[in-house]
Amino acid sequence: MESAEKNSLSVLIKEKAVNLGFDICGIARAKVLSENGAVLKKWCEAGMNGKISYLENNIEKRINPELLFPGAKSLIVTGISYYSERKQKKTGVPVISRYAYGKDYHYVIAKKLEELLLFIKDIDPSIKGRSYVDSSTILEKAWAKEAGLGWQGKHSIVINKKIGSFFFIGILILNKDLEYDQPLTGEYCGDCRLCIEMCPTGAITNDRTIDVRKCIANLTIEDRGPIPAEIIPKLGGRVYGCDRCQEVCPWNKDARPDIHPEFGLTNEIAEMNSDDWQSLTKERFDDLFKNSAMNRVKYEHFMQNIRIVTKSDN
Ligand code: SF4
Ligand code: SF4
Repeated sequence: MESAEKNSLSVLIKEKAVNLGFDICGIARAKVLSENGAVLKKWCEAGMNGKISYLENNIEKRINPELLFPGAKSLIVTGISYYSERKQKKTGVPVISRYAYGKDYHYVIAKKLEELLLFIKDIDPSIKGRSYVDSSTILEKAWAKEAGLGWQGKHSIVINKKIGSFFFIGILILNKDLEYDQPLTGEYCGDCRLCIEMCPTGAITNDRTIDVRKCIANLTIEDRGPIPAEIIPKLGGRVYGCDRCQEVCPWNKDARPDIHPEFGLTNEIAEMNSDDWQSLTKERFDDLFKNSAMNRVKYEHFMQNIRIVTKSDN
Protein backbone atom coordinates (compact mmCIF):
# COMPACT_ATOMS: atom_id res chain seq x y z
CA MET A 1 0.00 0.00 0.00
CA GLU A 2 1.42 3.38 -0.96
CA SER A 3 2.10 5.87 1.80
CA ALA A 4 -0.63 8.37 0.74
CA GLU A 5 -3.15 5.54 0.58
CA LYS A 6 -2.16 4.24 4.01
CA ASN A 7 -2.36 7.75 5.35
CA SER A 8 -5.82 8.43 4.00
CA LEU A 9 -7.20 5.07 5.22
CA SER A 10 -5.75 5.78 8.67
CA VAL A 11 -7.40 9.22 8.71
CA LEU A 12 -10.74 7.72 7.65
CA ILE A 13 -10.51 5.06 10.35
CA LYS A 14 -9.81 7.65 13.04
CA GLU A 15 -12.64 9.88 11.85
CA LYS A 16 -15.02 6.94 11.86
CA ALA A 17 -13.88 5.93 15.36
CA VAL A 18 -14.78 9.41 16.62
CA ASN A 19 -18.14 9.27 14.79
CA LEU A 20 -18.86 5.97 16.50
CA GLY A 21 -18.36 7.64 19.87
CA PHE A 22 -14.78 6.74 20.77
CA ASP A 23 -12.99 9.67 22.41
CA ILE A 24 -9.50 8.74 21.33
CA CYS A 25 -7.98 6.48 18.71
CA GLY A 26 -4.40 5.65 17.78
CA ILE A 27 -2.73 3.10 15.53
CA ALA A 28 0.25 0.93 16.45
CA ARG A 29 2.42 -1.29 14.29
CA ALA A 30 2.08 -4.98 15.24
CA LYS A 31 5.25 -6.23 16.88
CA VAL A 32 6.42 -8.44 19.72
CA LEU A 33 6.21 -6.55 23.03
CA SER A 34 9.36 -8.17 24.45
CA GLU A 35 9.97 -5.57 27.15
CA ASN A 36 6.39 -5.84 28.46
CA GLY A 37 6.68 -9.64 28.38
CA ALA A 38 9.78 -9.48 30.60
CA VAL A 39 8.00 -7.16 33.10
CA LEU A 40 4.94 -9.44 33.15
CA LYS A 41 7.10 -12.50 33.75
CA LYS A 42 9.00 -10.83 36.59
CA TRP A 43 5.72 -9.63 38.13
CA CYS A 44 4.23 -13.13 38.05
CA GLU A 45 7.45 -14.67 39.42
CA ALA A 46 7.24 -12.26 42.36
CA GLY A 47 3.72 -13.63 43.03
CA MET A 48 2.10 -10.21 42.47
CA ASN A 49 -0.58 -11.72 40.24
CA GLY A 50 -1.99 -13.37 43.39
CA LYS A 51 -4.55 -16.00 42.45
CA ILE A 52 -4.84 -14.79 38.85
CA SER A 53 -2.73 -17.74 37.72
CA TYR A 54 -3.83 -17.60 34.06
CA LEU A 55 -1.65 -14.50 33.68
CA GLU A 56 1.39 -16.79 33.98
CA ASN A 57 0.30 -18.78 30.95
CA ASN A 58 0.64 -18.03 27.26
CA ILE A 59 2.82 -14.95 27.81
CA GLU A 60 4.38 -15.47 24.36
CA LYS A 61 0.95 -15.36 22.79
CA ARG A 62 -0.11 -12.31 24.72
CA ILE A 63 2.89 -10.23 23.69
CA ASN A 64 2.82 -11.26 20.02
CA PRO A 65 -0.25 -10.21 17.96
CA GLU A 66 0.86 -12.53 15.14
CA LEU A 67 0.21 -15.53 17.41
CA LEU A 68 -3.25 -14.20 18.26
CA PHE A 69 -4.22 -13.18 14.76
CA PRO A 70 -2.02 -14.57 11.96
CA GLY A 71 -1.10 -11.86 9.47
CA ALA A 72 -1.51 -9.07 12.07
CA LYS A 73 -0.01 -5.80 10.82
CA SER A 74 -1.75 -3.00 12.72
CA LEU A 75 -3.58 -2.45 15.99
CA ILE A 76 -6.24 0.22 16.12
CA VAL A 77 -6.49 1.19 19.77
CA THR A 78 -9.55 3.10 20.93
CA GLY A 79 -10.49 4.72 24.22
CA ILE A 80 -13.91 5.73 25.52
CA SER A 81 -14.36 7.66 28.75
CA TYR A 82 -16.58 6.28 31.49
CA TYR A 83 -16.03 9.17 33.86
CA SER A 84 -19.16 10.20 35.70
CA GLU A 85 -19.50 13.29 37.88
CA ARG A 86 -22.59 11.80 39.44
CA LYS A 87 -21.84 9.51 42.35
CA GLN A 88 -23.88 7.39 44.76
CA LYS A 89 -25.96 9.93 46.69
CA LYS A 90 -26.27 8.52 50.14
CA THR A 91 -23.38 8.59 52.53
CA GLY A 92 -22.14 5.43 54.24
CA VAL A 93 -23.43 3.16 51.48
CA PRO A 94 -21.40 0.31 49.95
CA VAL A 95 -19.28 1.92 47.25
CA ILE A 96 -19.05 0.59 43.70
CA SER A 97 -16.43 1.51 41.15
CA ARG A 98 -17.36 4.03 38.45
CA TYR A 99 -16.69 1.66 35.60
CA ALA A 100 -19.59 -0.52 36.72
CA TYR A 101 -22.14 2.31 37.02
CA GLY A 102 -23.79 2.02 33.65
CA LYS A 103 -24.11 -0.36 30.73
CA ASP A 104 -21.70 -3.24 30.34
CA TYR A 105 -18.85 -1.73 28.34
CA HIS A 106 -17.92 -5.08 26.80
CA TYR A 107 -21.05 -5.00 24.65
CA VAL A 108 -20.96 -1.27 23.95
CA ILE A 109 -17.35 -1.35 22.75
CA ALA A 110 -17.56 -4.68 20.90
CA LYS A 111 -20.47 -3.30 18.89
CA LYS A 112 -18.60 -0.12 18.00
CA LEU A 113 -15.49 -2.09 16.97
CA GLU A 114 -17.64 -4.36 14.85
CA GLU A 115 -19.08 -1.30 13.08
CA LEU A 116 -15.60 0.10 12.61
CA LEU A 117 -14.44 -3.15 11.01
CA LEU A 118 -17.45 -3.19 8.68
CA PHE A 119 -16.63 0.37 7.65
CA ILE A 120 -13.01 -0.60 6.90
CA LYS A 121 -14.07 -3.70 4.96
CA ASP A 122 -16.38 -1.56 2.88
CA ILE A 123 -13.38 0.46 1.78
CA ASP A 124 -11.14 -2.57 1.26
CA PRO A 125 -12.85 -5.99 1.37
CA SER A 126 -9.47 -7.77 1.59
CA ILE A 127 -8.96 -6.43 5.11
CA LYS A 128 -9.58 -8.83 7.96
CA GLY A 129 -9.72 -7.97 11.62
CA ARG A 130 -10.42 -9.18 15.13
CA SER A 131 -11.53 -7.13 18.10
CA TYR A 132 -10.61 -7.33 21.77
CA VAL A 133 -12.33 -5.69 24.72
CA ASP A 134 -11.00 -6.11 28.23
CA SER A 135 -9.30 -9.29 27.19
CA SER A 136 -6.37 -10.71 29.13
CA THR A 137 -5.16 -12.27 25.88
CA ILE A 138 -3.78 -8.93 24.76
CA LEU A 139 -1.75 -6.35 26.68
CA GLU A 140 -4.22 -3.49 26.29
CA LYS A 141 -2.34 -0.91 28.33
CA ALA A 142 0.92 -1.54 26.49
CA TRP A 143 -0.83 -1.22 23.12
CA ALA A 144 -2.56 1.99 24.17
CA LYS A 145 0.90 3.35 24.92
CA GLU A 146 2.31 2.07 21.61
CA ALA A 147 -0.55 3.76 19.74
CA GLY A 148 0.34 7.10 21.34
CA LEU A 149 -2.81 7.33 23.47
CA GLY A 150 -0.98 7.97 26.70
CA TRP A 151 1.51 6.68 29.24
CA GLN A 152 1.26 4.27 32.12
CA GLY A 153 0.98 6.31 35.29
CA LYS A 154 2.67 5.17 38.47
CA HIS A 155 -0.60 3.35 39.26
CA SER A 156 -0.05 1.35 36.02
CA ILE A 157 -3.22 2.66 34.35
CA VAL A 158 -2.93 4.50 31.02
CA ILE A 159 -3.43 8.27 31.25
CA ASN A 160 -4.45 10.34 28.25
CA LYS A 161 -3.67 14.06 28.39
CA LYS A 162 -7.16 14.98 27.16
CA ILE A 163 -9.50 12.54 28.95
CA GLY A 164 -7.46 11.35 31.92
CA SER A 165 -7.46 7.68 32.92
CA PHE A 166 -11.14 6.79 33.38
CA PHE A 167 -11.49 5.20 29.97
CA PHE A 168 -12.08 1.75 28.51
CA ILE A 169 -9.74 0.37 25.87
CA GLY A 170 -10.92 -1.50 22.80
CA ILE A 171 -8.56 -2.94 20.18
CA LEU A 172 -9.01 -3.98 16.57
CA ILE A 173 -6.18 -5.98 14.99
CA LEU A 174 -5.97 -5.74 11.21
CA ASN A 175 -4.02 -7.62 8.58
CA LYS A 176 -3.19 -4.33 6.85
CA ASP A 177 -0.37 -1.81 7.14
CA LEU A 178 -1.49 1.68 8.15
CA GLU A 179 0.06 4.99 9.15
CA TYR A 180 1.39 4.57 12.69
CA ASP A 181 1.30 6.87 15.69
CA GLN A 182 4.35 7.35 17.87
CA PRO A 183 4.35 6.24 21.51
CA LEU A 184 4.58 9.13 23.97
CA THR A 185 8.05 9.68 25.29
CA GLY A 186 8.80 11.53 28.49
CA GLU A 187 7.69 11.28 32.09
CA TYR A 188 4.37 13.02 32.59
CA CYS A 189 3.84 11.93 36.21
CA GLY A 190 6.91 13.97 37.15
CA ASP A 191 7.58 14.02 40.88
CA CYS A 192 3.97 13.25 41.75
CA ARG A 193 3.45 10.15 43.91
CA LEU A 194 -0.13 10.83 44.98
CA CYS A 195 -1.57 7.52 43.80
CA ILE A 196 1.15 5.56 45.62
CA GLU A 197 0.69 7.57 48.81
CA MET A 198 -3.13 7.55 48.76
CA CYS A 199 -3.67 3.88 47.91
CA PRO A 200 -5.41 2.57 51.05
CA THR A 201 -3.51 -0.73 51.04
CA GLY A 202 -0.07 0.21 49.68
CA ALA A 203 -0.68 -1.97 46.62
CA ILE A 204 1.23 0.22 44.15
CA THR A 205 4.87 -0.68 43.72
CA ASN A 206 7.66 1.64 42.65
CA ASP A 207 7.90 0.16 39.16
CA ARG A 208 4.41 0.98 37.84
CA THR A 209 2.92 -2.36 38.79
CA ILE A 210 0.22 -3.33 41.27
CA ASP A 211 0.44 -6.09 43.83
CA VAL A 212 -3.00 -7.59 43.24
CA ARG A 213 -2.80 -9.48 46.54
CA LYS A 214 -3.34 -6.10 48.21
CA CYS A 215 -5.45 -4.32 45.59
CA ILE A 216 -9.07 -3.72 46.59
CA ALA A 217 -10.18 -3.79 42.95
CA ASN A 218 -8.95 -7.37 42.65
CA LEU A 219 -9.95 -8.53 46.11
CA THR A 220 -13.56 -7.38 45.75
CA ILE A 221 -14.10 -8.65 42.19
CA GLU A 222 -11.73 -11.28 40.79
CA ASP A 223 -10.54 -12.96 43.93
CA ARG A 224 -13.11 -15.43 45.18
CA GLY A 225 -11.33 -16.14 48.48
CA PRO A 226 -11.86 -14.30 51.74
CA ILE A 227 -10.57 -10.73 51.87
CA PRO A 228 -7.42 -10.75 54.06
CA ALA A 229 -8.11 -9.56 57.61
CA GLU A 230 -5.51 -6.75 57.39
CA ILE A 231 -7.23 -5.34 54.26
CA ILE A 232 -10.78 -5.26 55.70
CA PRO A 233 -10.34 -2.07 57.78
CA LYS A 234 -8.90 -0.37 54.67
CA LEU A 235 -11.80 -1.13 52.33
CA GLY A 236 -13.46 2.21 53.12
CA GLY A 237 -16.89 0.85 52.16
CA ARG A 238 -15.74 -0.43 48.76
CA VAL A 239 -17.58 -3.58 47.72
CA TYR A 240 -16.90 -3.66 44.00
CA GLY A 241 -13.65 -2.23 42.71
CA CYS A 242 -11.70 0.82 43.81
CA ASP A 243 -11.11 4.17 42.11
CA ARG A 244 -8.89 5.78 44.71
CA CYS A 245 -5.63 5.88 42.75
CA GLN A 246 -7.42 7.43 39.78
CA GLU A 247 -9.50 9.86 41.84
CA VAL A 248 -6.41 11.48 43.36
CA CYS A 249 -4.55 11.76 40.06
CA PRO A 250 -4.15 15.39 38.93
CA TRP A 251 -4.59 14.26 35.32
CA ASN A 252 -8.21 13.38 36.09
CA LYS A 253 -9.08 16.87 37.31
CA ASP A 254 -10.15 17.86 33.82
CA ALA A 255 -11.65 14.51 32.81
CA ARG A 256 -14.77 15.37 30.83
CA PRO A 257 -17.73 14.41 33.00
CA ASP A 258 -20.67 12.34 31.77
CA ILE A 259 -19.85 12.54 28.11
CA HIS A 260 -21.21 9.04 27.62
CA PRO A 261 -24.52 8.81 29.50
CA GLU A 262 -24.71 5.04 28.90
CA PHE A 263 -21.84 4.65 31.39
CA GLY A 264 -23.39 6.99 33.96
CA LEU A 265 -24.98 6.00 37.24
CA THR A 266 -28.61 4.94 37.03
CA ASN A 267 -31.17 6.74 39.21
CA GLU A 268 -32.06 3.54 41.00
CA ILE A 269 -28.49 2.86 42.15
CA ALA A 270 -27.80 6.53 42.93
CA GLU A 271 -30.72 6.64 45.36
CA MET A 272 -30.08 3.42 47.29
CA ASN A 273 -29.40 3.80 50.99
CA SER A 274 -27.57 1.45 53.33
CA ASP A 275 -30.66 -0.61 54.19
CA ASP A 276 -31.53 -1.03 50.51
CA TRP A 277 -28.08 -2.51 49.86
CA GLN A 278 -28.08 -4.76 52.89
CA SER A 279 -31.51 -6.19 52.08
CA LEU A 280 -30.83 -6.61 48.37
CA THR A 281 -32.43 -9.83 47.11
CA LYS A 282 -31.07 -11.99 44.31
CA GLU A 283 -34.00 -10.96 42.08
CA ARG A 284 -33.40 -7.27 42.70
CA PHE A 285 -29.64 -7.68 42.17
CA ASP A 286 -30.24 -9.45 38.83
CA ASP A 287 -32.65 -6.76 37.79
CA LEU A 288 -30.46 -3.81 38.85
CA PHE A 289 -27.32 -5.12 37.20
CA LYS A 290 -28.63 -7.14 34.27
CA ASN A 291 -26.99 -4.87 31.70
CA SER A 292 -24.06 -3.81 33.82
CA ALA A 293 -20.43 -4.89 33.97
CA MET A 294 -21.20 -5.79 37.55
CA ASN A 295 -22.69 -9.08 36.47
CA ARG A 296 -19.08 -10.33 36.57
CA VAL A 297 -19.52 -10.86 40.28
CA LYS A 298 -21.95 -13.38 41.71
CA TYR A 299 -24.73 -12.21 44.00
CA GLU A 300 -23.39 -14.25 46.95
CA HIS A 301 -19.89 -12.77 46.57
CA PHE A 302 -21.26 -9.24 46.31
CA MET A 303 -23.45 -9.64 49.40
CA GLN A 304 -20.51 -11.10 51.30
CA ASN A 305 -18.53 -7.93 50.48
CA ILE A 306 -21.45 -5.81 51.67
CA ARG A 307 -21.58 -7.70 54.97
CA ILE A 308 -17.82 -7.30 55.44
CA VAL A 309 -17.82 -3.52 54.95
CA THR A 310 -20.96 -3.06 57.02
CA LYS A 311 -19.43 -4.99 59.92
CA SER A 312 -16.07 -3.20 59.67
CA ASP A 313 -17.86 0.17 59.78
CA ASN A 314 -19.56 -0.72 63.07
S1 SF4 B 1 -7.39 0.30 42.87
FE1 SF4 B 1 -7.38 1.00 45.02
S2 SF4 B 1 -6.31 -0.61 46.14
FE2 SF4 B 1 -5.87 -0.93 43.97
S3 SF4 B 1 -3.99 0.16 43.60
FE3 SF4 B 1 -5.61 1.64 43.15
S4 SF4 B 1 -5.95 2.72 45.09
FE4 SF4 B 1 -4.78 0.89 45.55
S1 SF4 C 1 -1.37 10.36 40.79
FE1 SF4 C 1 0.54 11.31 40.15
S2 SF4 C 1 2.01 9.62 40.08
FE2 SF4 C 1 -0.01 8.70 40.12
S3 SF4 C 1 -0.51 8.38 38.00
FE3 SF4 C 1 -1.34 10.39 38.54
S4 SF4 C 1 0.27 11.86 38.00
FE4 SF4 C 1 1.18 9.81 38.02
